[in-house]
Amino acid sequence: MQIFKEIRPLKAFLQQAKKSPVAIGFVPTMGALHQGHLALVEASKKENTITVCSIFVNPTQFNNPDDLARYPSTLSNDVELLKKVGCEVVFCPAAAEMYVHANHIKFDFGSLDKILEGEFRPGHFSGVALVVSKLLNIVTPQRAYFGQKDFQQAALVKKLVADLNFDTEIILVPIVREADGLAMSSRNVRLTTEHRKNAVAFYHGLHKAKALLLAGTDFDKVQAEVKRFCESHAGIQLEYLALADSTNLSLTKNVTEQSILLIAGYAGEVRLIDNLMLTDEN
Ligand code: AMP
Repeated sequence: MQIFKEIRPLKAFLQQAKKSPVAIGFVPTMGALHQGHLALVEASKKENTITVCSIFVNPTQFNNPDDLARYPSTLSNDVELLKKVGCEVVFCPAAAEMYVHANHIKFDFGSLDKILEGEFRPGHFSGVALVVSKLLNIVTPQRAYFGQKDFQQAALVKKLVADLNFDTEIILVPIVREADGLAMSSRNVRLTTEHRKNAVAFYHGLHKAKALLLAGTDFDKVQAEVKRFCESHAGIQLEYLALADSTNLSLTKNVTEQSILLIAGYAGEVRLIDNLMLTDEN
């Protein structure tokens, strides 16, 4: 496995590799890798000759400085995990390598970056769009893999790639969960034992919402019931439960074949998100 900390040698390596017919798959991450990230690497390995995984905790997408300061970092363990799954290339730049100048570029995606996560994390998606643009320009992959766990992020990246004519296909990989249903997240290691146990309320809340909606309950009532249910667990605070059309993420109160439920909230001091397509089984 090749490890690069700098852009120039990574580009030179990839240019050399492209002299033979190769397909490059790309998995952008912020490290503290878990099975959810490795599922993206495995999906890429199935479809590409070279998989590049980036590990970069992108400062421009953190609206909360405490969240950035406390973001877990486990680089040597990450490298070992990536070796085990046969990832060919790791790109782990320092912030100064990625952002040489102060950044003034801002992205505006209309309503897509203002709702849901955008409402609670102002500026977050502009930072995501900036780093994804930079990484796609550096790696120039045929395919890039994103998790359904960050559904709004994936929708925004698809729009970014279409609108800016990036030559990369965006592929969505299903959510990988812990045995009790909690969506895997790098932030889960920050949960106390009690909050870890109770954090599964978000997953159960999604299933409760799905069952109520499919039984014909009004979405307003579903929201109130899921809030009551989640917050009956110590340390759990619901930020939102939303129903949207998964094709364009427009918010709605009506169920269709394309509906997706999205949830976000706090378990203690740790902010978690999850989602469920109404057609999903798990
Ligand atoms: P992050 O390191 O949290 O920025 O995540 C990097 C990529 O891994 C994103 O595309 C995430 O959506 C994806 N990812 C994170 N957690 C999971 C999970 N539990 N299942 C599937 N994909 C995930």
